[in-house]
Amino acid sequence: MATVAAPRCAIPDTPLAAAAPGLDSCVHCGFCMQACPTYLALGDENDSPRGRLVLMRSLLEGDVAASDPSLGTHIDQCLGCRACEAACPSGVPYGALLEATRATLNTSGGSGISRVGRFILGVFERPRLMAMAMFLTRIVRALGIPSLLSRMPGRLGFASAMLASTAHRRRSREYVVPDEGTRGSVAVLTGCVMQGLFAETNRATARVLATNGYRIVHIAGQRCCGALHAHAGDLEGAKRLARANIATFESKAADFIVVNAAGCGAMLKEYGHLLSDDPGWHERAEHIARRARDASELLAAAGPRGGPAKDGAAKTRVAYDAPCHLLHAQRVITPPLETLGAVTGIELVTLVDADQCCGGAGIYNLQHPDVSQAVLDAKLDRIDQAGVAIVATGNPGCLMQIGAGLVRRGSRVRVEHLIDLLDAAYAAEAEHQQPAVARAQTPR
Ligand code: SF4
Ligand code: SF4
Repeated sequence: MATVAAPRCAIPDTPLAAAAPGLDSCVHCGFCMQACPTYLALGDENDSPRGRLVLMRSLLEGDVAASDPSLGTHIDQCLGCRACEAACPSGVPYGALLEATRATLNTSGGSGISRVGRFILGVFERPRLMAMAMFLTRIVRALGIPSLLSRMPGRLGFASAMLASTAHRRRSREYVVPDEGTRGSVAVLTGCVMQGLFAETNRATARVLATNGYRIVHIAGQRCCGALHAHAGDLEGAKRLARANIATFESKAADFIVVNAAGCGAMLKEYGHLLSDDPGWHERAEHIARRARDASELLAAAGPRGGPAKDGAAKTRVAYDAPCHLLHAQRVITPPLETLGAVTGIELVTLVDADQCCGGAGIYNLQHPDVSQAVLDAKLDRIDQAGVAIVATGNPGCLMQIGAGLVRRGSRVRVEHLIDLLDAAYAAEAEHQQPAVARAQTPR
């Protein structure tokens, strides 16, 4: 009987060795190439999904050493956007392979996580440090310093522009919402950056869900979801945070865990995979993952309720840019459009290449500013061509990346979370109907 030789493995007992079966499904067809923003920007096969999969196999079989700087560069330069995964007809689990490869490089003499990257991940893992960092960031923002520095060249200028782009957010007019919903109970994942810089969007998320029949459950003690850690290959850090969040979300019953940050939602939905080798936590992780929903999914399931159309009023042109971790990782496609369809007074305009990454990708924009800028420039050009007043999206990284690009171009286009647009429509409707009683009320 003929025997099939097992693939060589030069790095046993590593995350990549465990994920290796995923490599076997790649047939090198190249269908993923044109979906890859780094390949389109750099034109190098090694910076394409197919090329990176070949590099991963070379690392696995010992043809390339983990310490090879070229290997580290091409793996590092991947945005982790997973557009290739969605385009692949063979079902190659590219995202899981990328995380496993990075984790392997971190522990096998590879390039590893940079000192700055380790510092940032360390802050995200420590809630008090994170709260303090966000508090100081808000003070800097309130003083207007980011706006002053936003046109400076280099990383400081770009980081300032990211923060400056969040400064226009104001507490929206609030409105009375029902206390009891009949569609089930939801706990809002507060998130690190969302709670630190977009807290009003978290409150808006609770308001619009309550308006659409969901009962809000508040769960204290939440931690960072671990997405940044997983994407950087710090799988142990991601697992620590996942276990802490699982225990926290188990402390109070809620039918759904709702997320308004696409990267965090993708992470929660993959908790089961992350903890698949941990018998004490795997089933608990799967239970949390099954209940995780993007806010737009729950709103689409509810209708969602729209405001009355304003006859004759000029409509604001709005384009939707799909966050990669909503579109490619979670495969949530139409719910954001259904949510925006309920917003009174907007004309939804198609954004060409809305499925392409904006180049944000967590802290990628600060680690690889040139590649990130090349990817962002393509997005900004498409936004210019669309002739819109507002770009709507659903992830803090995309809000800040596109926002920074618009600030630095001197554009008048605003970028908004789609939940904020629906919330503002409900607030305007309430004020129109009952100006005397429309006032602040967020579900408690
Ligand atoms: S990842 Fe998928 S689409 Fe890309 S080359 Fe391999 S099989 Fe083809
Ligand atoms: S994750 Fe994105 S950047 Fe990385 S190979 Fe796939 S398409 Fe390219």
